[in-house]
Amino acid sequence: MIKLKSGKIAVVGAGLSGAVIGRELAEAGHQVEVFDTRDHIAGNCHTERDKETGVMVHVYGPHIFHTDDREVWDYVNRFERFMPYRNRVKTTSKGQVYSLPINLHTINQFFGKSLRPDEARAFIEEQSDTTIADPKTFEEQALRFIGRELYQAFFEGYTEKQWGCSPAELPASILKRLPVRFNYDDNYFFHTYQGMPENGYTVMVGRILDHPNITVHLQTRFHRDWSGDFTQTFYSGPLDGYFDYEYGRLGYRTLDFERFTYEGDYQGCAVMNYGDASVPYTRITEHKHFSPWEEHSGSVCYREYARACGPDDIPYYPIRLVEDKTQLAQYLARAAQEPFVTFVGRLGTYRYLDMDVTIREALDAARDFLSGSAARASDPKRQASSRLLEST
Ligand SMILES: Cc1cc2nc3c(=O)[nH]c(=O)nc-3n(C[C@H](O)[C@H](O)[C@H](O)COP(=O)(O)OP(=O)(O)OC[C@H]3O[C@@H](n4cnc5c(N)ncnc54)[C@H](O)[C@@H]3O)c2cc1C
Repeated sequence: MIKLKSGKIAVVGAGLSGAVIGRELAEAGHQVEVFDTRDHIAGNCHTERDKETGVMVHVYGPHIFHTDDREVWDYVNRFERFMPYRNRVKTTSKGQVYSLPINLHTINQFFGKSLRPDEARAFIEEQSDTTIADPKTFEEQALRFIGRELYQAFFEGYTEKQWGCSPAELPASILKRLPVRFNYDDNYFFHTYQGMPENGYTVMVGRILDHPNITVHLQTRFHRDWSGDFTQTFYSGPLDGYFDYEYGRLGYRTLDFERFTYEGDYQGCAVMNYGDASVPYTRITEHKHFSPWEEHSGSVCYREYARACGPDDIPYYPIRLVEDKTQLAQYLARAAQEPFVTFVGRLGTYRYLDMDVTIREALDAARDFLSGSAARASDPKRQASSRLLEST
């Protein structure tokens, strides 16, 4: 049983959101209590060494750090050395391996041509469906920009597996900027800074949380009624969960990982997508390729399957279809009535957030709080009381 004195800051979730906010507030002199239901820190970015092979594994799926935000890049480098890493994704379609995002090599290989950049641009324009003036759906967006053949090979089956519905039902915004390159650049991300933490994300998050003013409580589920015991609560758990699913559950996709090992190099790259609908998994991740500076004779791989998220599953990708947005509006209205709870992170705001955006928003949330803390401190309702909080 944990007994905590009130008047402190509660941070719910020891992922990147919680760790960064906790650190900022701790450095400003606040006492911070961090809670996480899991038995480890780092949330979905958690990495650990595979016991059998010694390979560093991205337990909740592949995580590549990439950003244009210089402050965020400096921030992560303060806590861990980032090793150079380029994400080069391949995809298998009908027994052939292609390079993603679609680039000049993909186009030439797929169509059996040897086009130069301008020729390829004109060729793809010919493939595209120019009758679609204002694409509304993912499918229309893809047909408009790359045409049916590339869409079917690289997006249709993959997207159906990933989202559990036809791309014709998904908004065009999911494929807002179709990444097509008319050169041989196969770097998956456009960002200025890209890298991989030398010892994994969990070591990095451990260092962020390593401050005398921070106490971390693992395997401890934070309950809404505890928030009254804290000056402020930063909540990075599920928004609907905070309100006991009063308006129903927000839609998520969850992932199942099927682990297997291999002696040697299984696929020659970190991530291999499978575009065909007939292959039940979306991709295979071979984790040792995330640490090219290490040497391992054995290899550990995860086949990744996506499905609808049930009540006992880990929520991964917010779906944000029309019905989710209606519910979301109801939860946001409720959240606005909780001035002493700040909802942050991918689950607390029900948005897909890359790690760099997560850190940026966490820094901003902490700074907003710190700049307004003098006003809050004078509010008698929130001054430290002597109430004790008990957790199970
Ligand atoms: C499959 C996948 C791949 C990704 N790949 C990349 C990538 O390559 N690059 C990139 O930049 N980003 C990637 N991301 C995004 C990245 O995972 C997020 O940016 C990051 O995890 C967000 O951190 P967070 O702290 O907001 O949430 P989380 O990491 O989910 O942390 C929230 C924590 O809160 C805890 N929690 C929830 N409710 C409670 C409660 N009531 N009490 C106590 N604890 C609670 C949870 O256990 C969890 O540990 C990927 C995401 C997914 C799903």
